[in-house]
Amino acid sequence: MPRYVIDEAALVRNLEILKSVSERAGVRILLAQKAFSCTAVYPLCAKYLAGTTASSLFEAKHGHDNFGGETHVFAPAFIPEEMDELFGLVDHIVFNSPRQVALYGEMARKRGVSVGLRVNPEVSVATTPAYDPCRPSSRLGTTRTVLDESGLFLAAKDAKSAKVDGLHFHCLCEQGLDELKKVLAGFEEKFGEFLPQMKWVNFGGGHHITREGYDVEGLVALLNDFKARHPHLVVYLEPGEAIALNAGTLESRVLEIQPKGADGIFNAILDTSAACHMPDVIEMPYTPPLVGAEKGAGGPYAYRFGGPTCLAGDEIGVYSFKHELHEGDFVVFGDMAIYTMVKNNTFNGVNLPDIVVRHVDGSEELVRKFGYDDFACRL
Ligand SMILES: *Cc1c(COP(=O)(O)O)cnc(C)c1O
Repeated sequence: MPRYVIDEAALVRNLEILKSVSERAGVRILLAQKAFSCTAVYPLCAKYLAGTTASSLFEAKHGHDNFGGETHVFAPAFIPEEMDELFGLVDHIVFNSPRQVALYGEMARKRGVSVGLRVNPEVSVATTPAYDPCRPSSRLGTTRTVLDESGLFLAAKDAKSAKVDGLHFHCLCEQGLDELKKVLAGFEEKFGEFLPQMKWVNFGGGHHITREGYDVEGLVALLNDFKARHPHLVVYLEPGEAIALNAGTLESRVLEIQPKGADGIFNAILDTSAACHMPDVIEMPYTPPLVGAEKGAGGPYAYRFGGPTCLAGDEIGVYSFKHELHEGDFVVFGDMAIYTMVKNNTFNGVNLPDIVVRHVDGSEELVRKFGYDDFACRL
């Protein structure tokens, strides 16, 4: 049975960096649960972060019930029947459009929930369109043109009548300080005039703060500069990836090695599937790192790893080893905490990997095991 192993020591290294940013810059950092929702380590993460953000009722409830702290939610459009329960769970709600503010803003306020609007600064910095919320005709966020046409802020010159407490932008994906600078400049140019009326600003996610080489000092300086210019604003960041980057592995077993193909590469069938257990490998697409191997067919023993499903495209990638692999060997994929467990599925009846937490003292704890019922109960 394959297993995800969440490495608490690696998680703590990331969380220490994030906590130091939040302390030195006076900002609040939330976990975007979309990337990583491993309930077992929420109490640990909660010691370092201000709370969670969600994109649905279920995520909001998961963060509220298991993490605590502040609970925020954003969705492109909310579901009418869920609003009552949602307002009981969240501290902030971020609407995607003036229309959604008109529909639910007053209700939120009556329930004591702070109201935000996601804006679209129209600064494209993401490297692929699928991960670029500022791509042309994007459905995510309100552009300045749409905002002006809506008249939402007409009555808001006087802060007491403002219908919105905060602005939110999210334009980055696995990016550094240079891209944030571009996006922030665009945001302030287009929406800066509304900031005096606001209580908070949320800088979204996609900040790759815990990646090696990220300019953490530059980020602290940028945030302090922003806060010096807007001292009345509470500033939020809501990274997902950065929290659990390189903080987990997916361990899998070699089931069979087929004879060498025409291209000189062995097909090796694993008990883990790209389609089921690491869907971003196919969606993004990318080749995950593998411990003790090089990517590509350059080495003496090259293997094309594929899953146990019937999908021809269920391939993880080609890797080279210095030694020969055998049936029954274990292989370990790196950086498997983020965008994996949250996206798992049981396509083709493939079981879900166990979830194991490796504690700081090295001991391992099995926190979840799955079986036939987890497959059958959804069908
Ligand atoms: C995806 C997302 C995040 C987290 O993004 P990461 O790339 O995982 O840091 C934060 N906020 C919003 C609105 C998102 O859609």
